[in-house]
Amino acid sequence: KMANETLKAQLGNAAWRLFHTILARYPDEPSKQEQTTLNQYIHLFAQVYPCGDCARHFQGLLSKYPPQIKSRKTAALWGCHIHNKVNERLEKPEYDCTTILEDYDCGCGSDEKEDDK
Ligand code: FAD
Repeated sequence: KMANETLKAQLGNAAWRLFHTILARYPDEPSKQEQTTLNQYIHLFAQVYPCGDCARHFQGLLSKYPPQIKSRKTAALWGCHIHNKVNERLEKPEYDCTTILEDYDCGCGSDEKEDDK
């Protein structure tokens, strides 16, 4: 069995990839419903995240830095900044957020193009 630290890092990697990819695919002009859904998703994610310490700490960050859900750009930048808060606590390097939208490509292309699905 792999060491606990390795497993925790793998879980974190996978979780962050999904997290940032969802934000990078969020609509440019979300409806009220879409905004509510994203906000709830992020808060529920923080509640169900399997590492208890991480979840508790992340919930604290969410109260301090509430999700920015007005547009894709603001949501993606917010996600990058809050991940940087976690990086800071874990003494990891700060990530450059300027190309965040390009950095997280879902590989699904435009929703209209059947080929990319
Ligand atoms: P990760 O932080 O997993 O990042 C993966 C990749 O994303 C990086 O290699 C980089 O390419 C990119 N990246 C880095 N920073 C950013 C950014 N700001 N924006 C966008 N992309 C970025 N671990 C603990 O030990 N204690 C905790 O309290 C803890 N809390 C966590 C809370 C949450 C919500 C999550 C999802 C994970 C948490 N983790 C915690 C795990 C931790 O954040 C890392 O995932 C883990 O330590 C592995 O780190 P890593 O160096 O592989 O990079």
